[in-house]
Amino acid sequence: MTHAYDAIIIGTGQAGPPLAQDLAAQGQRVAIAEGYRFGGSCVNYGCTPSKTLIASAHAAHLARRGGDFGFDVGHVEIDFGRVSERVIGSIERGSSRLEQRLRDNERITVYSDYARFEGRDGDDYLISVGDARLRAPRVFVNTGTRARLPQIEGFERTPWLTSEGLLRLTELPEHLLILGGNYIGVEMGQAFRRLGGRVTIIEQSDSLMRREDEDIRQIVHEFMQGEGVEILTSAKAVKAEPAADGGVRLFVQRKGEDEPRELTGSHWLIAIGRVPNSDQLNLDAVGIDTDDAGHIIVDEHLQTTAPNVYALGDVNGKGAFTHTSYHDYEIVRDNLLHGRDRTWTERVMTYALYTDPPLGRVGMSEREARESGKNVLMATQPMRGVSRAIEQAETTGLSKLLVDADSGQFLGAAVLGFHGDDVVQIFNFYMATGQPYQPLMEALPIHPTIAEYLPFMLHSLKPLK
Ligand SMILES: Cc1cc2nc3c(=O)[nH]c(=O)nc-3n(C[C@H](O)[C@H](O)[C@H](O)COP(=O)(O)OP(=O)(O)OC[C@H]3O[C@@H](n4cnc5c(N)ncnc54)[C@H](O)[C@@H]3O)c2cc1C
Repeated sequence: MTHAYDAIIIGTGQAGPPLAQDLAAQGQRVAIAEGYRFGGSCVNYGCTPSKTLIASAHAAHLARRGGDFGFDVGHVEIDFGRVSERVIGSIERGSSRLEQRLRDNERITVYSDYARFEGRDGDDYLISVGDARLRAPRVFVNTGTRARLPQIEGFERTPWLTSEGLLRLTELPEHLLILGGNYIGVEMGQAFRRLGGRVTIIEQSDSLMRREDEDIRQIVHEFMQGEGVEILTSAKAVKAEPAADGGVRLFVQRKGEDEPRELTGSHWLIAIGRVPNSDQLNLDAVGIDTDDAGHIIVDEHLQTTAPNVYALGDVNGKGAFTHTSYHDYEIVRDNLLHGRDRTWTERVMTYALYTDPPLGRVGMSEREARESGKNVLMATQPMRGVSRAIEQAETTGLSKLLVDADSGQFLGAAVLGFHGDDVVQIFNFYMATGQPYQPLMEALPIHPTIAEYLPFMLHSLKPLK
């Protein structure tokens, strides 16, 4: 028997569940399928557990820094079992609450299995979920991504971890090798180091976080190294073997070195990027196209190449964050349910790196601004000149503002420093509303805050050399 619905949602990432609730509230019969854990990456192996872990690591770090504030706590003993209880507790609460909310809604039918397209029948899409057969005229795909795995000789025989396994460890890794020096590798590297483990990051390009500007990368590199994180750049893992004690032996070829180095780790995190979960959906059966990377191709309204099928979240490649996935949901909701004409192309890309200090980013980097061909003004301000940062003993970092000299609009900003993830939102909101920067110069800031220096900073805007 085939079950008929008004809409089928595949995947319970950040976009599918709220959309299911909204469609149900409109009286529609909705089916939602989840093949693994409810809540997807953010809840189970992404933002929530990683930031919970980072908070424990930060507290331990601050305790060790007591001397900077006039007290001493002696040796800081980490009880990793309790840290891990906090982290795993955050996952279980988030995932089960979401599942319960969906199951409690009588207009939503929840299927706990992987879904795939089977074909079309008139205007309806036919979808199988385990043994069940479903049909609906509208489908929303919110299937996210999974960790990209490396092609390294011997890799399959080693006990590698993705962020999921790492965030479920109940014992502190004695020596964590991290393959990949991008956002996940850097965040996790600092956190596990602060929790007392030895950490080595292996990055094949010549710096950590290669997409950021060089001055920003340099500061991050320095504070990571300063905390004892070992960083090997221009380094390619060429072979892996299981080590006798359950760990891993990794052979790493560094540029300029004759022979590969041998590293032994108790644990090995793979953090070299993510691949879209589009390959198991049988998209060809209904004419949904993907790009070379496997992202589902969407138009500006997030509609795929099949009519009335939408792709939301990381699987469409138009963002790789919880907030971009949720934004996709808002766009589709407003267009379909509220007669709006919103597009993802209008949004300004923004994100944060949750190191300590954090990096808040929006819009263009300096490099991108230079390449844009626009007349660009730039101002920079080291955190060591910001009074609140000095009072907090948090003087590491740099802010950078980029403005279009002709329109006065912000092109981008980077705020690396205390509360940088929040401070950058000012520019994010300015850019979203298209306001020029000049009114900000006359705004009254609160003293002492990190954001207080921004109006002053704007007075030092100069053309990019
Ligand atoms: C370690 C880590 C840290 C991160 N930190 C941050 C952060 O601090 N801030 C931030 O904004 N973002 C962060 N992210 C990214 C963020 O988690 C994702 O961008 C966000 O969860 C959006 O995902 P999504 O909605 O596209 O789908 P996902 O959350 O990936 O969910 C997709 C769901 O679909 C399910 N699924 C897949 N295929 C099928 C199928 N065929 N049938 C049924 N179900 C299926 C999957 O099991 C999964 O549950 C982090 C990610 C990682 C890995």
